[in-house]
Amino acid sequence: MPTPHSPKTERRESGAVRLDTAVQFLKGIGERRAEQLGRLGIRTARDLLWHLPHRYVDASSVTPLVRAEVGQEVACVGQVVAKGVLPTRKGLRIFHAVLRDDSGVLECVWPGQAFLDRSIAVGQTLLVSGPVRFYHGRQLAPREFVILADADGDSDPLASGKVLPVYPATEGLSHKVLRGLIERHLDALIALSDDVLPEPFRRAAGLRPLAEALRAVHRPESAEDAERGRRRLAFDELLDLQLMLIRARAIAKRQRSGVAFEIKRDLTSRLREHLPWELTGDQQRALREITADMTSAERMHRLLMGDVGTGKTVVALFAMLLAAENDFQAALMAPTELLAEQHAATLEWLLAPLEIRPELLLGRQTASEKAAVRARLASGQARLAVGTHALMQESVSFRRLGLVVIDEQHRFGVEQRAALIGKGAAPDVLLLTATPIPRSLALTLYGDLDVSTLRQRPPGRGLVRTAVRLASQRERVLEFVRRECSGERQAYVVLPVIEESERADLRAATTMSQALQARWPELRVGLVHGRLKPDEREGVMRRFRAGEIQVLVATTVIEVGIDVPNATIMLIEHPERFGLAQLHQLRGRVGRGEGESYCILLSDAPAPDRLHAFAATADGFRIAELDLEERGMGDLIGARQSGGFEVRHARLPADADLLGQARELALKLIGADPALQRAEHQRLRERAVARFPRAVELFRVG
Ligand code: ADP
Ligand code: MG
Repeated sequence: MPTPHSPKTERRESGAVRLDTAVQFLKGIGERRAEQLGRLGIRTARDLLWHLPHRYVDASSVTPLVRAEVGQEVACVGQVVAKGVLPTRKGLRIFHAVLRDDSGVLECVWPGQAFLDRSIAVGQTLLVSGPVRFYHGRQLAPREFVILADADGDSDPLASGKVLPVYPATEGLSHKVLRGLIERHLDALIALSDDVLPEPFRRAAGLRPLAEALRAVHRPESAEDAERGRRRLAFDELLDLQLMLIRARAIAKRQRSGVAFEIKRDLTSRLREHLPWELTGDQQRALREITADMTSAERMHRLLMGDVGTGKTVVALFAMLLAAENDFQAALMAPTELLAEQHAATLEWLLAPLEIRPELLLGRQTASEKAAVRARLASGQARLAVGTHALMQESVSFRRLGLVVIDEQHRFGVEQRAALIGKGAAPDVLLLTATPIPRSLALTLYGDLDVSTLRQRPPGRGLVRTAVRLASQRERVLEFVRRECSGERQAYVVLPVIEESERADLRAATTMSQALQARWPELRVGLVHGRLKPDEREGVMRRFRAGEIQVLVATTVIEVGIDVPNATIMLIEHPERFGLAQLHQLRGRVGRGEGESYCILLSDAPAPDRLHAFAATADGFRIAELDLEERGMGDLIGARQSGGFEVRHARLPADADLLGQARELALKLIGADPALQRAEHQRLRERAVARFPRAVELFRVG
């Protein structure tokens, strides 16, 4: 906060505004405005310049109010002609506002948001966007609204025929005021901005100068103009990200000091001989890639990505045996005890003919059991270890840890992974993930890793049929579930919330489990959700796996988890509440045995296209693409959990071409000047470091 200086000195300085001048000293911004801007993260002139519109509207992109049809997603602009708060019979308070434009009127409703009555006033012009539904007539239920103009008699801001930038605003600081402030200072601030992208590269990539791009995003001539501007900013961002990732990868590889595993054809060959099936083509390819990494002098840092059921475990096992036959130890860490036990059981089964037993280390074992396992790991007597977080505890040591495998790697924090990896001198690292993502996104999130992918599924696995069903078919669906479960089968029933009180309009897991148990006294119905203690949860899951429970009602906690071949039904309530990738993860819980499996999406309203698209494909990569288009990158970047990855301008997969160009350029730059120390790269380095805090260490000079 800019208080230590007396306002006088700063004012004099403000004759020459710089990008790091505090916003408070810009014309038209006083202390109160500065405080409001601060709430949007805008503290300096630079922040104001980089506070970009998150959307644009013009007359062609908004729907006239009378043409907003039930079932559609629309954006509309209109003036508030009436408003108020209505209580409903259930005690929910609904804020509603009637909008008018040249075409007519439309009612907007915000259930449970009575507080809006304080910020929305008659006479204001609102931009609203969201779904239109039918409830005592057409109603728009806005997901987002922006006050475009105050009630003070402004004319319709779209009337000029221009494209209107819409900025993220905050309470007390209307969108109109914010837009005015940015507009007022824009030219001066753009003149101060510094294009660090070397001219020849900029031209080669067909991108416009930074100043032009900034002008286009803030003050576009047309929607295409704004988009071309955004792409220039996206390129810079992707370039910085790639510079960081490629540098990180180079450093990680350099740290390996020459340990190369040899192909001994001992344990690995024996496993291959005794394997009950042929490896799929994808498994063989992944294994070749892993073997090449492990036998090279560089350190392996590889991600094995494949949908549930594509057979990652056996690939990991081959890698572990390659380490073991070189007289190194290998450890496989899983996020839950159940998963670790499952892996141990799989490994034991596959390794039985080789007469090797993996050690299992879990938190719930007795102290003496754990001590015995630890002793065998420390002495080197045990070559393969499987376990949970217990493996990375301080008390655990290995004689010679050569390979670390981490299943569901995103479930572990960076430090947790590092804790296990740190137990070897410089072990190779293989990360597993069952969340496939498109290549473009993989390069963004995992640009510092090598990636192997499994797309094919092993043959002979049960097929999963996906069906979308309506509420009117609920009875028939439930009867089907009952019939299957009265035979040999088991079912999952998934709901979006635990308790009804969380969302009055949604069915909840707790109530559902009671209702189903009452309805089906002959079956045992279990319940798991995120508010149970981990051991309670695992206890219920264990009973489900043992067949003591036939119907498992759950929230998404079962997303990652158990392999119950006998479970053949996945019934999902309110499927529209889930992301596509999440639905796909849920679907992956069935189809793991021989029999035919079913994934049933039980939807209250006519299901949107996205659910039908989901039902039509079983390809996790395709679904990942759809999911990415639907949700944008923000969320997915969050999945990486390592912080400092926020991507603001780029959109994937739409910007995949830019990403390719940025990566190529980054490879060239880092190849020629690994730490970007040359004078002509200095400003590029500074910008990457300023944008991604993680890059600070990577580009530390020296
Ligand atoms: P993932 O961890 O990728 O979800 P798993 O490793 O658990 O998948 O494998 C899923 C199932 O497929 C397991 O029961 C495994 O034994 C089996 N399996 C793996 N590879 C093959 C193969 N090549 N042919 C037939 N079955 C396979
Ligand atoms: Mg697995």
